[in-house]
Amino acid sequence: MKCRNSFKFLLSGALLLALGQVAQAAEVIVYSARNEQLIKPLFDAYTLETGVQVKFITDKEGPLMARLKAEGRNTPADILLTVDAGNLWQAAREDLLKPVDSRVLKANIPEHLRDPGNEWFGLSVRARTVIYNPNKVKAGELSTYEDLASPKWKGRLCLRTSKKVYNQSLVAMMIGEHGEEKTEQIVRGWVANLATDPLADDTKAMEAVAAGLCDVTVVNTYYFGRLMEKKPNLPLALFWPNQNLKNKAAGVHVNVSGAGVTKYAKHEREAIHLLEWLSSPKAQNLFADVNLEYPANPAIQWDATVAAWGNFKQNLINVAEAGKLQVKSVMLMDRAGYK
Ligand code: FE
Repeated sequence: MKCRNSFKFLLSGALLLALGQVAQAAEVIVYSARNEQLIKPLFDAYTLETGVQVKFITDKEGPLMARLKAEGRNTPADILLTVDAGNLWQAAREDLLKPVDSRVLKANIPEHLRDPGNEWFGLSVRARTVIYNPNKVKAGELSTYEDLASPKWKGRLCLRTSKKVYNQSLVAMMIGEHGEEKTEQIVRGWVANLATDPLADDTKAMEAVAAGLCDVTVVNTYYFGRLMEKKPNLPLALFWPNQNLKNKAAGVHVNVSGAGVTKYAKHEREAIHLLEWLSSPKAQNLFADVNLEYPANPAIQWDATVAAWGNFKQNLINVAEAGKLQVKSVMLMDRAGYK
């Protein structure tokens, strides 16, 4: 507490450097499953503005969560930052995070993009949408994720493997919307329509569409953005599904990358402040644009590349469902033969 009180009086970075001992308190330590190149510019900007150092390690979410768990109350980590609500939900369930009561975070982050228990907050939105070959498919033939199970897509669908959490979350959200029985029918329909075995990643799925192996797939839009930046002439176009529905399944499936304060954070106040800053207008573009994602804060203008794909209605069911129903989703996809 002493250090925190002292911290209040630190007004400049120069003072920080002068007071080495006290400066130790003015830091936040982040365990990040988001790549260094995506987070370092943000943390540098934060340090420049506040004088607070942000130290971080990056790894896959599995090892980071295992490490947090093993370190227990001795962990140096103040924040866990990762992708996919399924992973954030898992971290909360394993008691690795603590609830944060922040008016700023509640105001900046829409309700469906944060934990109802306030243990994690979405900071960028990732939309999982339909990509098609416009030489083979008219946009008017497309409608919903569910429709990709219809026989008209027989031999025309490519999908990424069900082992990826993105698809586990997509199917989990569908279970939340339709129940298990109907969702299993849909997933069985997808499997029956596959042109080839499930592909290793979103980019390979799009390349298969572009190469004519199949006509349509489902990917996160930032992969589409990256691929089209490299190869702008590929015959690929983006479609926003589930836009004209009025039921729970309305809207594009969205997920988040986000963060929470660790249960045993040593710099809790600083950690909350960093999260609040990350949700603020000045940081949101830096956070989202660098990966062609969408800002979680709806007040923020989109990056030009992303904006060019057009507006869309998001599915407004809380992304925590992706975590809650993940086990059921994995079992369902297995039963349905989705590898
Ligand atoms: Fe990804």
